[in-house]
Amino acid sequence: MTTIDKKKPVLVSGATGYLASWIVKYLLDDGLTVHATVRNKINTKKYEHLLKLDAESPGTLKIFEADLLAENSFETAIENCELVIHTASPFQISGLKDAQKELIEPALHGTRNVLNSATKTKSVKRVILTSSMAAIYGDSIDCQNVKDGILTEEIWNTTSSLKHQPYSYSKTLAEKEAWKICGEQSQWDLVVINPGFIVGPSLDKMNAGFSNTFMRDMGNGKYKMGAPEGTLGFVDVRDAAKAHVLACFTPTASGRHITAGYNKSFMDVARELHKIYPDLPLPKKALPKTLAWLVGPLFGLTRKHVVKNFNIDLKFDNSYVKKDLGLEFTPFEKTLADHFEQLMADGIVGRK
Ligand code: NAP
Repeated sequence: MTTIDKKKPVLVSGATGYLASWIVKYLLDDGLTVHATVRNKINTKKYEHLLKLDAESPGTLKIFEADLLAENSFETAIENCELVIHTASPFQISGLKDAQKELIEPALHGTRNVLNSATKTKSVKRVILTSSMAAIYGDSIDCQNVKDGILTEEIWNTTSSLKHQPYSYSKTLAEKEAWKICGEQSQWDLVVINPGFIVGPSLDKMNAGFSNTFMRDMGNGKYKMGAPEGTLGFVDVRDAAKAHVLACFTPTASGRHITAGYNKSFMDVARELHKIYPDLPLPKKALPKTLAWLVGPLFGLTRKHVVKNFNIDLKFDNSYVKKDLGLEFTPFEKTLADHFEQLMADGIVGRK
């Protein structure tokens, strides 16, 4: 049982991010003080949306500078906090030059850096880590090797590596490290959120972030010839953020939480969007696997990825996050509609 004093500040690492900005919003709306870390405090453009949230809410926002790779750089921000929400981690799937440097080091060393500072700070009672479903499975085909073919919180990704699915590997290493560091002390407990693929509106302009790239490409016709087949766990960004906040203030919260509301294919996404935006150049059919194998590299997908993911459906059990944290999922149609409405308003996707 961990009870939190809401008068104490809450640390949120990587506060400028797509997911973290919603976490910051919910905490400020609840009247809390948020210690938000950003990489470069001088670059106010990156966090002006957070300053706006601060001005509109009863809570208080304080900005601190910290980098995952700079030893002890989180210590000032953690002072007096009972809660540490560690979301910062690079999220990049393609276009990597050096996965060790770009993904593994910041994810792994960053987790060590933040959690070791939490241990040194005697006020810290609970750490919430943003992991991912990528720490549970690497490729959809992994489902075929688990009990009843269904992913649960007991399963760990054992198939990703530096060369194959390095982002998933970075999340797996970071979450394992977090559990290890947690086990070496008894001052704070660890609650882990494992979101699926996050979609939904952004509190910043929707011009960055991998989640948005996929939706933008879908709306702008990149998959017009056919969408990848197979399903993914999708979650609304607001639900993923709420899971973090519920994890903060549910005294009995524990363990890992698969946080994905819907098991959907890209064609399901396209069909849903077609109902609202019939004029967009959305895919009308799935891409045959043989063709995907041939053209995958042109779209930044390795052939190994195509073989192990295309035409293979996921199955996962999301009952624990509902039971342990009381999370309810936003209807999928609403998530897509809200996401696209913003893309249209920002001129990132347009009717053709
Ligand atoms: P995002 O918008 O790219 O946010 C990532 C955040 O991490 C940014 O604030 C970024 O800061 C910060 N960061 C990256 N490298 C850093 C470093 N070296 N030092 C300090 N901060 C650093 O991505 P997101 O989608 O919100 O992802 C947030 C978390 O959710 C990540 O842990 C990600 O793995 C996880 N997740 C995301 C998804 C998804 O579908 N989006 C799904 C499951 C889990 P800058 O703004 O300075 O770059």
